[in-house]
Amino acid sequence: MINAARYFWLPVADDSSGCGLVRHAFRGRRADADVAESAHCGRTFAMATPSEMDWICAPTCTECNETLKARQP
Ligand SMILES: [Zn+2]
Repeated sequence: MINAARYFWLPVADDSSGCGLVRHAFRGRRADADVAESAHCGRTFAMATPSEMDWICAPTCTECNETLKARQP
């Protein structure tokens, strides 16, 4: 199924970053996301509506990044 391979990046509240936000990768589509979703790194986060500044300041989750890279054909 093509949809199963879809994912999206979203900055969510995560104290492991200095600015309190980390950009994680989630399965599916943002429009279909529930209140909380589990990211590719295995942790669950509450979905947020990030501002433009959130996108700029939130670092990318390295675990999500590695997981997605490992899945590339
Ligand atoms: Zn992550």
